[in-house]
Amino acid sequence: MLGLCMVLVLAPAGLLLIFANFTHLHSYDDATLHRDPVVASLLDGEQLVPPAALPPAVFITPEAGADRTELATASREWMLLDPDFRQRLLLVFRALERHGYRMVLLEGYRSPERQQMLAQLGPHVTNAKAFQSYHQFGLAADSAFYRSGRLVISEKDPWAMEGYRLYGEYAESFGLVWGGRWQMRDFGHVELRRGRS
Ligand SMILES: [Zn+2]
Repeated sequence: MLGLCMVLVLAPAGLLLIFANFTHLHSYDDATLHRDPVVASLLDGEQLVPPAALPPAVFITPEAGADRTELATASREWMLLDPDFRQRLLLVFRALERHGYRMVLLEGYRSPERQQMLAQLGPHVTNAKAFQSYHQFGLAADSAFYRSGRLVISEKDPWAMEGYRLYGEYAESFGLVWGGRWQMRDFGHVELRRGRS
């Protein structure tokens, strides 16, 4: 009986928390994302084609293992990303290529089950539980660089750091939020803050 009372007392608070997270994910105004006419025309223009997938072995290098948990099993399926977000990210990739950086998608869509699993690994991996990450809605991606047949993720590599800086700059110019500005920096992460389409 006491157990049931606890459930009845705590349930509304729990619902409120879930609702608060949900509204947080959907509180951004679409209009602000299309202010710049150049950006707007790029977004509405030619839809860019995602790059060909790299061999799975690329993602199980020692560097990938050291920096990224469970990278080998992450989804890199561009078609599971929101089309608007996909176009913005491809525009960022194209811009970086002009600077000599070939970018690679490390992880895009993430199932709620996988998010929960990553959250259980601890805050050094992610603070977001299921449905608290834009990855779940195909509105976030983690990227790194590809150089001489290898992934370059390390923030200790000055070449990569310059790449991340450019990546953040272009991502923001295309209306994305860049994880490199967060307190818990996530240089490879970008997300589009709007509701599911
Ligand atoms: Zn991410």
